[in-house]
Order: sequence, then C-alpha cells, then structure tokens
Amino acid sequence: MIFSELGLSEPLLRAISEQGYEIPTPIQAQAIPAVLSGRDIMAAAQTGTGKTAGFTLPLLHRLSSGHRASANHIRALVLTPTRELAAQVGESVRDYGAHLPLSSAVVFGGVSINPQMMALRRGVDVLVATPGRLLDLYNQNAVKFTQVEMLVLDEADRMLDMGFIRDIRRILDLLPKRRQNLLFSATFSDDIVALTKGLLHNPLQISVSPRNAAAPSVTQSVYMVDKTQKTALLSHLVRSNQWEQVLVFTRTKHGANRLAEKLERDGVTAAAIHGNKSQGARTKALADFKQNNIRVLVATDIAARGLDIEQLPHVVNFELPNISEDYVHRIGRTGRAGATGEAISLVEPEEYKFLQGIEKLIKQKLPREALPVFSLAPVRPRTEEEVKADAEAERPRRPQHRPANRPTKSQKTSNRQGAGLPPVKRAEGSAASKPRRRRPNKPQAVA
Ligand code: AMP
Repeated sequence: MIFSELGLSEPLLRAISEQGYEIPTPIQAQAIPAVLSGRDIMAAAQTGTGKTAGFTLPLLHRLSSGHRASANHIRALVLTPTRELAAQVGESVRDYGAHLPLSSAVVFGGVSINPQMMALRRGVDVLVATPGRLLDLYNQNAVKFTQVEMLVLDEADRMLDMGFIRDIRRILDLLPKRRQNLLFSATFSDDIVALTKGLLHNPLQISVSPRNAAAPSVTQSVYMVDKTQKTALLSHLVRSNQWEQVLVFTRTKHGANRLAEKLERDGVTAAAIHGNKSQGARTKALADFKQNNIRVLVATDIAARGLDIEQLPHVVNFELPNISEDYVHRIGRTGRAGATGEAISLVEPEEYKFLQGIEKLIKQKLPREALPVFSLAPVRPRTEEEVKADAEAERPRRPQHRPANRPTKSQKTSNRQGAGLPPVKRAEGSAASKPRRRRPNKPQAVA
C-alpha cells in the first residue's frame, strides 16, 4: 500500500513526501479511507503508531473542500489531554497542511489566554485544544462551535484519567449534532466505552497495537543494581556506549530533578521535565534534547506522555513504574514507526515485585545483564538550598515563575491539568459555567 492509493489530494501527498514518509502505517492505511468516506472511527492506537497523521491527513482533506471558518468559528476540533500533545498535534497539522489554504491554532492552559483569543478572532479551520482552556475560551465568547464538522478525541483514556470527563461532556453538548467523530485511545476501559455510546455512530473499529504488547523492535534488558549505584551505572552506560539521546524515567518529580542534577555534576548534560516546571522550562528542555544539546532528558510518566521525539534510541527506567502498563507506555517511546530501540531498566531489590508484574503483563522474562565494572562517581552532598528547592518542586502545583500579574484561578486550574495533576474539584464545573475576570498577561506566541 502506498499513500497515493488512499485517496488523499495532491497537496497532502506532497506534504507527506516532504516528511519523508513512504509507506502508510497500519493505522493510516485503515483510518484514512474510512475518515475520507465520512465514517466515525474508534481506534485503539498508542503514540508511535502514526495515529496523528492517521486522523490529521483525512481531516485536512475533508476541510479543504468547504467554506473557511467565519470569525471566531472553528470547523474541526482536536481535543488532547496535555499541552505537549496539543503542541505536537498542532505541529503535525501545520506540516501536513503546508500546501493547503487552511488555518489552525493550538490552545492550552498555563499560558496567557489573550494571544489565543486573538488567534481565534478571524476563525480557524482546525483548533487543537486541551479541554479546560477550550471551555475558558468558550465562556469568553472567543470560540463558537456551530460550524464544527469534525471532532477528534486524541488519547481519550488519558483525558479521562486526568479527570476531564465533565469538561468533555460539556463540550460535546455544545457541538452541533451532525458531525464526524474520531476517537483514539490506547486502552478501552468501561469508561471509554460508556463515552463512545451516543458519541460515535456506526464507528469503524480499528486496532493496531494490541494493548500490553511491547513493540517488537525494542530490545529490553534489566540490570539488577543497588539503589545507591544507579546514578553511577546510568552515567557509565551513557558515557561508555556514547549514547547521545536518552530518555530516563523516574517515578517522582523530585527524583527527576535530583537525577538530572546529579548527572550534570557528573559531567553528563541532563534536564528534567515534569509538571512542576514552567511551560517555558519544559519547552526549552525538550528543544535542547531534540537538538542534541543535552544527552539525557529525565521525565516522569505524565510529563513524557505524548512527547513526540522521533526515533528515540534509548529509554532507561531509572525506577520501574508501579503500574505495569506504564512500562509498556514508557518503552513505546523507543523503536517507533519502524526504528529500532533499546529499553534498559535499573532494578533495585525493592522493585523486584514491579519487575515480576511487568514480566507477567508482557508475557516475557526480560534478560538480566551482568553489571559492568564502573566506578561510583563521587557525589557532592546536596546543599540546603538544593534540598529546599526540591521540596518546593514536589509541592502541589503552584506556578514557580509567578509573573507580576498573578495567574487567575482558571490559569491555575489549567496549570494543574496541563501538569497532569487531578483538577481541583471546583474548577471542573465552574470553568464551564462561570465566566471569570481575567487580567492580560504578557503576550505569548500561539501556533
Ligand atoms: P504518532 O503515533 O502520531 O505520534 O507518530 C509517531 C511518529 O511516526 C511521528 O514521529 C511521525 O512523524 C512518524 N510517522 C507517522 N507516519 C509515518 C509514516 N507513514 N512513515 C514513517 N514515519 C511516520
């Protein structure tokens, strides 16, 4: 199967070839013709399967034959759980739509709302949004839904996990009844199935990566190691193998910060990315990593969700996740779309039970590697300031870089949501129902 057989228009095929894609991935081969024919779809697909192009390409194709959006209106809405995913989907929309006269914008919480309101003023054909901020914009009359023709729920299971169900239901109520719906989710829990009832009409069901199946192109292995030796071992592995891009997972934000600091002290360039970091710091860390300015990106599960880093060669579990499914998500960061990758887990005796759970889930025993000879790097004791800074970073979400204009309540809510923290109870309902006073913040670029 080649792309030109799927029914996509020439401007899209051109954009695809500019991306260097030659063969559609299985989800693209199934989803693209179905979406082009106007059908609803319900797809079980994780990040790394090419799902974004799977919905974006036919969506752009369909929108290109119609009237442009009027002022403040949108024609297609893509909802995502996190700002990182929203930004990445927005980037795909721009890349694939490069030769089409369609407009797009990305809106998410945690940044000033004003530039987003400006971006919507003339209407946009494709809006990529996180639910909380979208409702804020709706409440301020910045966005109107009556021209919506297509809806995409991306990573629907994550949106439910993050407590967005009420926001999503409220948004669904506001959309025109006649529209095409595309739902993507890594897993199909009872909650997701309940959500699809009444949302999807005669959907084509597509499943490309069976749940809990690790990508076969990923080599997995385990080092049984004492907790106190983990940092030195990691640093040794990075240096001796000359790894240039390593994504390392820790269980906590605190752990992520500490590890990045220790690696830096040990001469390995590293940065931590997690929900307590400001949006600017997260974007910068990711950009530095993508441009090979830093070798190690240390992330928590939530922060890593949806990160699109092409062909990431190495993933290290500095600590095993206590939820076995998260292991599969983590190692899904490597060996993506045909590339090969390596996933290494550093397992201390106390984590052995997690390892057993993971092996049971993936139905395979992971090979144990012999510990290489490495020296324990001398680690300077942490200063009191560093200890305090870490403790501060672990506290529930409060913007670290509070600008002169203090964030409004809804911005705080959006920060929590963007950070993957459970939303504050009040915010869920009231974000939807009560317009709130806002103060202008420093303008920020919107996509
Ligand atoms: P996604 O699952 O949408 O996050 O996509 C995973 C990665 O696969 C992204 O980096 C895409 O750029 C890449 N990709 C998507 N479709 C293709 C394709 N047909 N051939 C090669 N790479 C692709």
